[in-house]
Amino acid sequence: MNEVDYLKNKIRDIQNFPKEGVVFKDITPILSDPEAMNKAMDLFLKHLGNVKIDKVVGMESRGFFFGTLLAQRLNAGFVPVRKPGKLPFETLAQTYDLEYGQDQLEIHSDSIKKGENVLIHDDVLATGGTAEAAVKLVEKLGGNIVQLNFLIELTFLDGIKKLKNHDVFSILKY
Ligand code: 5GP
Repeated sequence: MNEVDYLKNKIRDIQNFPKEGVVFKDITPILSDPEAMNKAMDLFLKHLGNVKIDKVVGMESRGFFFGTLLAQRLNAGFVPVRKPGKLPFETLAQTYDLEYGQDQLEIHSDSIKKGENVLIHDDVLATGGTAEAAVKLVEKLGGNIVQLNFLIELTFLDGIKKLKNHDVFSILKY
């Protein structure tokens, strides 16, 4: 079995989570299998290539798992993007649209320096609102976004349209 199929077999569909009508892609079987973790890391690193990354930005909370691992392997810093009120220092905020209403994400204002090369990571790209907000936060700080990567892209939601002009890599597509 190739790496992608191995990982696809580890994704568990959960019906009606977190609400009625939603099929949630559960990634925890990947986290609990070191072989799956290694395969995913290898694919992320292969598709990134040899470019120098200064900071990996990971979105709360499932973006923290591979985000921190990637940062360590790339000898880069890790920067969390979090829900409002969670980060203790001075923050920049970005509002984004949800299906019903709006939400906000925050980043520490000193976390990325102008011109630093940034990799943005999250577990799933769905409608793209979360990733687009992270892109805006990084750009406000003057970071240079090299790539956005995801374990899973839900292609039928067209989130990639919100990430035009960016290099996007997803290991699994549905
Ligand atoms: P978006 O903003 O692209 O609509 O949603 C992406 C965010 O919601 C990500 O931070 C991701 O963790 C979460 N998310 C949405 N759908 C799923 C899903 O099916 N499985 C998982 N694991 N996360 C999801």
